[in-house]
Amino acid sequence: MLQIRRMPVGQIGTNCYLLEDLEAKTCAVIDPGDQADDIAREIDKSGLRPTMILITHGHFDHVLGVPGLLKHYPGLPVYIHEKEVNWNKAGDQYMTMNPVEGIHTVKEGDVIDFGDLPIQVLHTPGHSRGSVTYRAGDVLFCGDTLFAGSCGRTDFVGGSYPTILKSLKRLVELGDDLRVCPGHEGVTTTGTEKERNPFVLQALQ
Ligand SMILES: [Zn+2]
Repeated sequence: MLQIRRMPVGQIGTNCYLLEDLEAKTCAVIDPGDQADDIAREIDKSGLRPTMILITHGHFDHVLGVPGLLKHYPGLPVYIHEKEVNWNKAGDQYMTMNPVEGIHTVKEGDVIDFGDLPIQVLHTPGHSRGSVTYRAGDVLFCGDTLFAGSCGRTDFVGGSYPTILKSLKRLVELGDDLRVCPGHEGVTTTGTEKERNPFVLQALQ
């Protein structure tokens, strides 16, 4: 059985999620944006063993906790799109993640095995060039692409409003009953957003 735990972390209250397999006692950590020690304490307290870190995009408020978590759990693989990494210090240090040990780049169509559950990678740019959504069964971890009633900013480097509209359309057209776990604030469903999210409504026109 799968369980999702949402932990707002850091100054902007970014949602870090634990995707937990209660039988295997494992978890995937999605967007550890800060407070690595608190996240690790929560994981350890629950008797879970983390098997991977999944990053939706490289903005600092989604990745600041990565190095600290790797200290707690050495060797943990870290998945992120290549355009979200500050390779050779070429990118903006606040908007891209510094390379870490165990980094694996992901792209559209990749599948990551979380125990028996395949996690699909959907490239959903617009908030940033390499923003991805991780689909685990009927759950979408979509970072700052789709929010309840809103969508991510597109005025940062690599952002594009027409592009995020395409990504929003793609996400809600995956089905009406998908649970949406965004990078900030509350969870929602694709069906709800299709009905009342003004950005989604515009994207569907
Ligand atoms: Zn962001």
